[in-house]
Amino acid sequence: MGVQMNDISSGISELVWFRRNLRVADNPALTALADSKQAAPLGVFFYDQQYTGSWLGMPRCRPLRAKFLWESVQDLQEQLQGLGGELLVQEGEPEDLLPKICQSLGITRVHTQRLFAYEESESAERVLQALHAIGVELVQHECYTLWPSAHVFASHPQPLSSFSKFRRKVGAPENGARKNGVVVAKLWHQNENGARENGVVVAKLWHQSLEHTSLTKSPIPIDAELDERSVLLFQGGEKAGRARLHDYCSKPVGHYKETRNGLIGADYSSKLSPWLNLGCIAPSQVLRAVREYERAHGENASTEWLIVELLWRDFFQFLAAERGAELFKGIAEPKGEPQGKPSGKVPEDVNSGSNFEKGTEEHDNDPNFSVPGLSGAFGRWCWGKAENAFLNANMRELEKTGYMSNRGRQNAASALIHDMGIDWRLGALWFEANLLDYDPGSNYGNWQYIAGLAANPRGGSWFNLKKQAQMYDTKGEYQKLWDA
Ligand SMILES: Cc1cc2nc3c(=O)[nH]c(=O)nc-3n(C[C@H](O)[C@H](O)[C@H](O)COP(=O)(O)OP(=O)(O)OC[C@H]3O[C@@H](n4cnc5c(N)ncnc54)[C@H](O)[C@@H]3O)c2cc1C
Repeated sequence: MGVQMNDISSGISELVWFRRNLRVADNPALTALADSKQAAPLGVFFYDQQYTGSWLGMPRCRPLRAKFLWESVQDLQEQLQGLGGELLVQEGEPEDLLPKICQSLGITRVHTQRLFAYEESESAERVLQALHAIGVELVQHECYTLWPSAHVFASHPQPLSSFSKFRRKVGAPENGARKNGVVVAKLWHQNENGARENGVVVAKLWHQSLEHTSLTKSPIPIDAELDERSVLLFQGGEKAGRARLHDYCSKPVGHYKETRNGLIGADYSSKLSPWLNLGCIAPSQVLRAVREYERAHGENASTEWLIVELLWRDFFQFLAAERGAELFKGIAEPKGEPQGKPSGKVPEDVNSGSNFEKGTEEHDNDPNFSVPGLSGAFGRWCWGKAENAFLNANMRELEKTGYMSNRGRQNAASALIHDMGIDWRLGALWFEANLLDYDPGSNYGNWQYIAGLAANPRGGSWFNLKKQAQMYDTKGEYQKLWDA
């Protein structure tokens, strides 16, 4: 073992802590590693509390979401192995595990991805401190958003009060957008002759020395199958994500604006969000693919609109950066009819005491503060057993496939907040547990937006479920599809 470690440390001094950048192409953290002329790309990924934990007794990652994540991690591991490298997958908190790994391998620099939401930036700060204490540098690279944060913060004074102002200020997507297109595989080949071969040897030794600690199965249960009615056969990983990007941008993107409020089928919208949010694909790759489509078929309102949606995604990231732990707080004023329902309270049949604040973790391990069996009105909302058939159809789709259309999400959130008068944070937790594309900024930000707690110039959004069903499910086909 000692001999192996010496061999290893002679070839390896940097690694990538993968977060939500689970890909090899267009990945600045990996590109920086390649620039270091290191023999092989080595990385680590941690199943931390953000995946394995629970809130109010609700798991943060139910099986379908956990499965998509595991597939994505496996895909990355295969790709790094294909480059002569390795991905070590462990369960635990990065601030505890990373220093140990660095010390045992003689790592002096760790590259990672900068993320913007509260828990993620707090986690990076703890890692920074822990690594600093042992003399290891942590370099954070941005690639989660389309627009770099420096461009956004320079062009838009905080606070971010509305999307339209944000959009006007940050300007065209090419303004300040990253110029990448770096294919890491090539970088490894280009380094020097023989580097790759050398890398294989080093990585093999590294792998042998750590094999027993790398997870070979998901630490979160993944025993669930996608319902066959799913809009798409969602499979995690960079290969599947790029294939979907290619398919969508070969044709359907050309009519996105007309179809984007759809409910049935693969192509009414891009369905790219699950891959985007684990970083199996990058927003810059989506921008490039849309531009390529435009060069071949011409620009139209649909291609422009897809880019606007990516800008919404950025908006919620920077809003999350600005709001910190406030992203998980706030009491909503229901706008629904009949008026006068209790505002933003955790229903009594679900919980006692509604003072939970995600982000403070105060209640996370409190057995008296749980969601027992998701019962009562909130449970009926979760399991698609509420009074409204259109709402139920959407909630069933979510639970059985990990996906729900944007139209469905807006209606489901509005119903919980404004019609049922239930604390929006419970609904956001259920979305977090189920959505394959869960992202803290996009999820909690959209919930706050609908609740009227953040950046919504109308002070909240209420949707009339009956009218929405008539408008978007005119023949009731969607409700029929998901009637059980
Ligand atoms: C209550 C609620 C919760 C939500 N939670 C999430 C979440 O956890 N993760 C998530 O990615 N999206 C979330 N959304 C936004 C949106 O519903 C999804 O991004 C979209 O439905 C994903 O499907 P798509 O990839 O086909 O989107 P498309 O319509 O094809 O849009 C393209 C991309 O633009 C981005 N996008 C589009 N609309 C939004 C939006 N409103 N906010 C942020 N990004 C957007 C997504 O990255 C999406 O993949 C939420 C919306 C609501 C109302």
